Amino acid sequence: MNNLKEYSKKEIIELVKKNKITAKDFVDSGICPTCFDRENNNILYGDNKDKIIYEDEDIECFLVGNPRANGHTAISSKKHYKDMMAIDDLLCKKVFIFSKKMMNIIKEVYKTESVYLCTMCDGPMNHFHVQLIPRYSNEKRGSKNFVKPRLRYIEDKEKLDKLRKLIKE
Ligand SMILES: [Zn+2]
Repeated sequence: MNNLKEYSKKEIIELVKKNKITAKDFVDSGICPTCFDRENNNILYGDNKDKIIYEDEDIECFLVGNPRANGHTAISSKKHYKDMMAIDDLLCKKVFIFSKKMMNIIKEVYKTESVYLCTMCDGPMNHFHVQLIPRYSNEKRGSKNFVKPRLRYIEDKEKLDKLRKLIKE
């Protein structure tokens, strides 16, 4: 694959539609796949409206499509920032106060024993986000919770509605 920057946007979209390129090709070409996805109707990662918990002009909070635990949630900035070190203090404050609230809500709705937070955006083309990973009472405490095997996402509409309602309060 040549550098995607040599293609027009229309050509790139065609390549995505034909499954000829993946997120990795974007990264290798120095294009942020998250930004491209957002600017082009979620062509790369698909529409995640069914997983969105909260959204405003700065952030988006959603259930992760390949969760490490039931209730695994991500909070992403809308604008492109490489990682937490690149965000401004105002956004930093907003994301972390929001995360605190969301962690309490996840704990309540999913009856978890704890909720872990991590942010480890790394690599040349990342997009700042924070992950909230539940730990349940049958799971051991510790950092292994950050690398639990991925699960299949199964929608639980009742829980999702609760999350959406509580975060607005
Ligand atoms: Zn981006």
